[in-house]
Amino acid sequence: MPDLTMRLLRSLPYPVIIFAIFLASIGCGSADPKPAVSAAVSSSPGSGFRSEADTAPNANESAALPTESGPTQPPTAETAPATTAPATPAPTSASASGEPEASSSAAPSTSSLVPAPVASKGTSAAPTSTAADAARVKANELGLVPVLMYHQIVADPGGNRYDLTPAQFTSELQTLYDDGYVPVTAAAFATGEIDIPAGKHPVVLTFDDATTSQFGLTPAGAVKPGTAVALLLEFAASHPGFTPVATMYVNFAPPPFAGTDPVKGLQWLVDRGFEIGNHTLSHANLRKAGAAGAQREIALDQEAIMRAVPGLRIKTIALPFGVHPRPDELSVAGSADGIAYRHAGVMEVGSNPARSPYHEKFDGAGIPRIRSQSIPGADAPYESKHWLGWLRARPELRYTSDGDPATVAFPRASSQKIAAQYRSRALAY
Ligand SMILES: [Zn+2]
Repeated sequence: MPDLTMRLLRSLPYPVIIFAIFLASIGCGSADPKPAVSAAVSSSPGSGFRSEADTAPNANESAALPTESGPTQPPTAETAPATTAPATPAPTSASASGEPEASSSAAPSTSSLVPAPVASKGTSAAPTSTAADAARVKANELGLVPVLMYHQIVADPGGNRYDLTPAQFTSELQTLYDDGYVPVTAAAFATGEIDIPAGKHPVVLTFDDATTSQFGLTPAGAVKPGTAVALLLEFAASHPGFTPVATMYVNFAPPPFAGTDPVKGLQWLVDRGFEIGNHTLSHANLRKAGAAGAQREIALDQEAIMRAVPGLRIKTIALPFGVHPRPDELSVAGSADGIAYRHAGVMEVGSNPARSPYHEKFDGAGIPRIRSQSIPGADAPYESKHWLGWLRARPELRYTSDGDPATVAFPRASSQKIAAQYRSRALAY
């Protein structure tokens, strides 16, 4: 849309704007707008998601895999789950961070790893954790993090094995709690602002498509009972330390959480620490949309979200169907109609734990997500039950916090693996 049009839109009531943006997306959004629009419009239970689930893990995932973990490594795009024997929890020869042991001669000296005060976002406080503290809890902030992907939470998932019943969802929250996980948002994860207690492990809960089973408000302004957000809040209320936050990836054509005013709904979520992320305006296949169409889909979703929650900064995106635009970089940054976007994290449809944001091989442009599913299927061994068990059996590979957001703590053998921009915060033991 021309800038003049956008200026005109800004003077209109909110529902009119959304409708206008929707029309604009149909008219000039992509080279092949029909599939994208119909995918969004038919976002009844399972429809948009099934195709997403059917999408093979993106090839980019392989870059994020803990490939050094030898025979127990997760499936990659090259080794399809259906034809690969499930990874069985077994002792591993990998070192504490899932990486080969660094030779002692190659490891930086202790003095170069002394944490220095940092003045960056969210970590302005001086370090309070010591190497002894980190060692006591076996901290490993270069370890693996499960990023879980949810869709619908419904009483009867029917044939859609990727939807969960409320009982299954709460059961998974219990598993996470019992395993010592504390939820953080995708933005906190991707920007390296993980702040959880010592000895705890971060987990990222993500919800795609902004469906009514995930969230809604009653006419009185309370969260609708039985929705995923309500279940998460209820669980946290009776499980101290389990921070009830999640990332909601929303489309705006049609508007998110049907039946709930998007202005009130999104603000309610943001006020409680939930993250609102980009899922494109109309759940577009970004590769089919073309370079200009992809940027428009992303920019206009951001515009609509920010219109609902003024001043909100959109930091992460979940790719519909797990499909990257061409070129890939357009999922990270781009612009359309004078609206620029930049993401610290791009969520894929994947099947394995993600690297720590402090790891030198962390790739924010392709973060794999683990699917949660209700019904056993051919790829069940690679979904959340499998991976949470896999990580449980390998505590030395899992991200474990030292409780101090100003430091990045890890066993000395992993010293080579910290990303350059975090070396000033390194705390090796
Ligand atoms: Zn989706």
